Amino acid sequence: MMIVMKAAATEEEIQSVIDRIEEVGARAHPSRGEEVTVIGAIGDREHVMRLGLEGAPGVEQVVPILKPYKLASAQIRPNEPSVIEIEGRKIGGENFSMIAGPCTVETRDQTIGTAHTVKAAGGSLFRGGAYKPRTSPYAFQGLGQEGLRLLAEAKAETGMPIVTELMDQRDIEPILEVADVIQIGARNMQNYTLLAEVGRSGCPVLLKRGFSSTLEELLMAAEYILKEGNPNVMLCERGIRTFETAYRFTLDLMAVPVLKELSHLPVIVDPSHAAGRRDLVLPLSLAAAAAGADGIIVEVHPHPETAICDGPQQLYADDFAEYVERVQQAAAVAGKALAGVGGDLI
Ligand code: PEP
Ligand code: MN
Repeated sequence: MMIVMKAAATEEEIQSVIDRIEEVGARAHPSRGEEVTVIGAIGDREHVMRLGLEGAPGVEQVVPILKPYKLASAQIRPNEPSVIEIEGRKIGGENFSMIAGPCTVETRDQTIGTAHTVKAAGGSLFRGGAYKPRTSPYAFQGLGQEGLRLLAEAKAETGMPIVTELMDQRDIEPILEVADVIQIGARNMQNYTLLAEVGRSGCPVLLKRGFSSTLEELLMAAEYILKEGNPNVMLCERGIRTFETAYRFTLDLMAVPVLKELSHLPVIVDPSHAAGRRDLVLPLSLAAAAAGADGIIVEVHPHPETAICDGPQQLYADDFAEYVERVQQAAAVAGKALAGVGGDLI
């Protein structure tokens, strides 16, 4: 259920509604908008109905949330997209975020060098995997703890916030020491215990769409994180499996406007994993930005030909500044500007 407060509702009235919801064992998720506060009540519907909140002081109306996902639904924040702030960088709303870095952390030079490149080109966050989900168990699985140490060093040197993947609940503590955003990969989108765990951690999450998942399943996965009281979730379209074999995955760009219609959460597009080919990354990024994506997560490497994984799709670090320039123009078409530190638009 959703309790819409009156524009003039006082803080005491809001708190009293929250207390009453929690007294019957439901969880209250207040969302304080510019005009009104909306309180999502998640729990036994009958118990919340019996509270008779309709008519309580400060309450405008009580309405059911019709979608199976509640906290992720656009209904709970009418006309108010969520803006997530990571160390002064805003994601969502009118901001366009450029998240970039290598597929995997390999060496100190590769990691720190790329972080400098990303920063100089106006990137907002630095990505790099220390734990890698690989199709083959014989392939390089990531540097693990040593990779996290290099990411921490890259952050200390450049000040760039870090996005890195968590695959296994047992690694959450060391990852939380380094990550500003936890990435949940496509293969783990429906790992519900992992989702609840990152929800409880409170760390912002970049949730990738499983390559055989519907948008509703993606939003239900986001709901697992939000339900734990973590509001900082970004959705990521990274390509889905279709019958087409000419490229690695099919980038579903329709997901961008549709997710924005269904949800208030920021939508990021990953052109690298969708394409699997470097030459497709720019056109897909331009299309994603023009379609209204809130940002791009893209792979960049100083020497992609020697990269341990995903070499064919990683952009050359030397070409990155020009790439950002082009994508920024497309984002402007959709009314967004590259987000800089301190929320400044640059
Ligand atoms: C990645 O970002 O490096 C990655 C493995 O992505 P995905 O989970 O989308 O395949
Ligand atoms: Mn990769």
